[in-house]
Amino acid sequence: MTPENAGQEPIALAELTTMRVGGVPAHMVTATTQRDLIDAARAVWASGGEWLVIGGGSNTVASDDGFEGTVIRVATRGIEILPATVAEPGVVRVRVQAGEPWDELVVYTVGRGWSGIEALSGIPGSTGAAPVQNIGAYGQELSTSLVAIDFLDYATGEVLRLDAAALGLDYRTSVLKQGLQGIVLTVELALHDTAEERAVLGQPLGRPVGYAQLAGALGVQLGDRVAITDVRDAVLVLRASKGMVLNPDDPDTCSAGSFFTNPIVRESFARTLPSDAPRWPLEPDEPDVVMPIGSLVSGTPLDAFVALQAESAVSEHAGPVGERLVKLSAAWLIENAGIRRGFQLPGSRAAVSGKHTLAITNTGGATAEEIAQLARFVQGRVQAEFGITLQPEPVLVGITL
Ligand SMILES: Cc1cc2nc3c(=O)[nH]c(=O)nc-3n(C[C@H](O)[C@H](O)[C@H](O)COP(=O)(O)OP(=O)(O)OC[C@H]3O[C@@H](n4cnc5c(N)ncnc54)[C@H](O)[C@@H]3O)c2cc1C
Repeated sequence: MTPENAGQEPIALAELTTMRVGGVPAHMVTATTQRDLIDAARAVWASGGEWLVIGGGSNTVASDDGFEGTVIRVATRGIEILPATVAEPGVVRVRVQAGEPWDELVVYTVGRGWSGIEALSGIPGSTGAAPVQNIGAYGQELSTSLVAIDFLDYATGEVLRLDAAALGLDYRTSVLKQGLQGIVLTVELALHDTAEERAVLGQPLGRPVGYAQLAGALGVQLGDRVAITDVRDAVLVLRASKGMVLNPDDPDTCSAGSFFTNPIVRESFARTLPSDAPRWPLEPDEPDVVMPIGSLVSGTPLDAFVALQAESAVSEHAGPVGERLVKLSAAWLIENAGIRRGFQLPGSRAAVSGKHTLAITNTGGATAEEIAQLARFVQGRVQAEFGITLQPEPVLVGITL
């Protein structure tokens, strides 16, 4: 199978991304089975041209100039329940095809009373993209449930099983986001089967609530456990109030979610900020990191990732080894740099979300450059006010800030 004989007329990336910007790529293939995905990717890679993988397009912001290569659309579906083992009582393992919509997976697992990803309800996009930035929300992250991925490796063309520990999963990042090239084919998760709790408590419970705002919405304390369906419902209500659940009737959801990550700075720098600036200490790194085995991950991508972690994921205010790191609120920094919800540059159709300063939205017909101009403006204001350069969270294709 090649892009040409797949015979697919390329569609503008604006139609495939939630930000609704992006030009027409030169070629496009859509794979609905894992076999087709592998074959198509190998054919595209053999042709030597540029390529771009896209799932739900909810974390991709692409230039309107188009893309001089092949877009590989991942549309594989399926959820497989793996056999239970005596070694893991109360654990359910599922293997999920990359193109399975993430929130449909959450509905499936919550409906069966399997906990672990219920607080990740309402996040748009595909399951295969979930490890790319280690999706997280309301006190849960993919990393706590991820066991392994099946990965089609660009360097060798082979399918590898990569354990979660080899993926460098961290706050909104992984080796997949930092340079390890290839395609996630499947995602394997370990969830908690709450059958015993059902017998004792009469209903399946979610994992302990790990986020103060969610605990408040549920009327419980941090660490309490409540019905798994209540967690999902409360998360969806909270997300909708921030424009973070895709809704064609809500223009604030025409975005890529949070446009900037929360900066990570050294504690001494954080102390120079106003006293009301939210800040969360990070756990110190493990003293010894066991590097993954295998030719793939011991090569340059992981090295590149480690270097990038040091240079960019942690902001320019990260300090010498040993000093504690602190995570700041990008939304607070933006608001306190004088940018209000709904802010638009004159004549621009890009806007800061009316519900959340961290999201940049397309109010209708915005160009990719208008989105980028607003992002640069926000960065500039925060830099001028606080000396911090906010880093974009979405993957930018053909766009530089
Ligand atoms: C309204 C809204 C709310 C959001 N809320 C959250 C949130 O709460 N938490 C959060 O973490 N994120 C959030 N996001 C961001 C986004 O939904 C997630 O990052 C999601 O996992 C992206 O999935 P996708 O399939 O749409 O990715 P895409 O945009 O299609 O791709 C994103 C990146 O992953 C790569 N990729 C995609 N599929 C694969 C694959 N199979 N193999 C290898 N690489 C692949 C792409 O090449 C690209 O680099 C939100 C986005 C929106 C629009």
